[in-house]
Amino acid sequence: MKVVLQNLTKKFPNRNKKTGGEVIAVDDFSFEIPDGKLVGLLGPSGCGKSTTLFMICGLQKPTAGKIYFGEDDVTDLPPENRGAGVVFQNYALYPHLTVKQNITFPLENLKGADKLSKQEMSEKAYEAAKLVQIEELMDRKPNELSGGQQQRVAIARAMVKMPKVLLLDEPLSNLDARLRLQTREEIRRIQRETGITTVFVTHDQEEAMSISDVIVVMKDGEVQQVGKPQDVYDDPVNLFVAKFLGTPPVNLFDGEVRDGRLYIGNDDVLAVPEVPDQQVDAGIRPEGFVLKADGALCCTLSGVEVMGRDISVVSTSPYSQNPTIRSIINSENKVDTDAKEVRFALKPNKVLLFEKGTGKRIHF
Ligand code: ADP
Ligand code: MG
Repeated sequence: MKVVLQNLTKKFPNRNKKTGGEVIAVDDFSFEIPDGKLVGLLGPSGCGKSTTLFMICGLQKPTAGKIYFGEDDVTDLPPENRGAGVVFQNYALYPHLTVKQNITFPLENLKGADKLSKQEMSEKAYEAAKLVQIEELMDRKPNELSGGQQQRVAIARAMVKMPKVLLLDEPLSNLDARLRLQTREEIRRIQRETGITTVFVTHDQEEAMSISDVIVVMKDGEVQQVGKPQDVYDDPVNLFVAKFLGTPPVNLFDGEVRDGRLYIGNDDVLAVPEVPDQQVDAGIRPEGFVLKADGALCCTLSGVEVMGRDISVVSTSPYSQNPTIRSIINSENKVDTDAKEVRFALKPNKVLLFEKGTGKRIHF
């Protein structure tokens, strides 16, 4: 089922008595979540991700705008009548109930034609438990489970009614690195198997990029960019999005365009035809550097970090906005670590130019 957000806005009264006014948590958010897809809602803490999710599931009422599940306007429906499954960041399991009772909990209060027998509830609980591979833990209490297992129980509980929409709010943030990776693959597998339209909220760009069909990048309550992860990475609309996506992050330089050439300091590093003369922020992705003895960009070599398949060349430049420049180079390249300087040619499609001040992308 597709989910449509139409000019969704949420304002909260500002609790700071001195400044007063309102906090705009979500500002005029319009987006159609395609049926059966996994959408990653990505942005720094406080940008309005949870508020958006809570409005979709009905826990918070929008100040303005509409929400549709399929063709139905659900804006004024209470959460229990929307039928979205929600997984919160802190699991929120009932400590005094067993795993099985936690999973069947959403089924207990079904009324009328939907009412289930004990037997039916048990069957549904086992189905959901099987999906997240915790069938053997059904009789334990939450405090007898690891963080990852608790998170699976929370997912099973959200899935037990076979919701048409699954909403996950930073579901992996309490897990250690290895488990986070494993659970995120698990969530992807379950989403694919069931075809449930899913919104996955995270502040972790790598997590969002790896798991999502589509990502929505937010900042200060406003959508910055929507697209397939690779497209957004390759073609960011502004400096914020460019900086937010990618590890290691994009390297930023103070640059200047003169007569269709990009200069970093005195180095004439790239042809940028048609770009008007101006000062720019020049972003270079770590994979955009090519080691070359007569390369145009000259940096001061600090060191080389071995990463296995690749090496990371660490250098500095007076024109770099970051303390260090990181270039990811295939390890078959040899770097003379005694050298003072390192020179690079640049891959044009890995160089991103932005207007000074506005951060708007300049295409060339
Ligand atoms: P995120 O999930 O992206 O970290 P939130 O959606 O939780 O961000 O919050 C967005 C903004 O709205 C923040 O500035 C936050 O302080 C504010 N906010 C969230 N909930 C409330 C609330 N109940 N009352 C007042 N302000 C709130
Ligand atoms: Mg949040």
